[in-house]
Amino acid sequence: MDQKNHEHNPGVKCLVNTCHYYCQGDHCDAPKIEVQHRNATSSKETDCATFKPQNQSMS
Ligand code: SF4
Repeated sequence: MDQKNHEHNPGVKCLVNTCHYYCQGDHCDAPKIEVQHRNATSSKETDCATFKPQNQSMS
């Protein structure tokens, strides 16, 4: 579950380096992403709903 793709999403540049799916070079390795939310009126109101915190148990 929640496996990373082994290919980057070529159309997505993501700077959220705290996300499980983030990959060095500002790539997203999620199989797909969902962006929220409906009726947003500016880019500030949009967010990646696929974001998942990194597993920090390995510190
Ligand atoms: S899932 Fe969303 S927040 Fe996470 S790396 Fe991909 S685009 Fe960025």
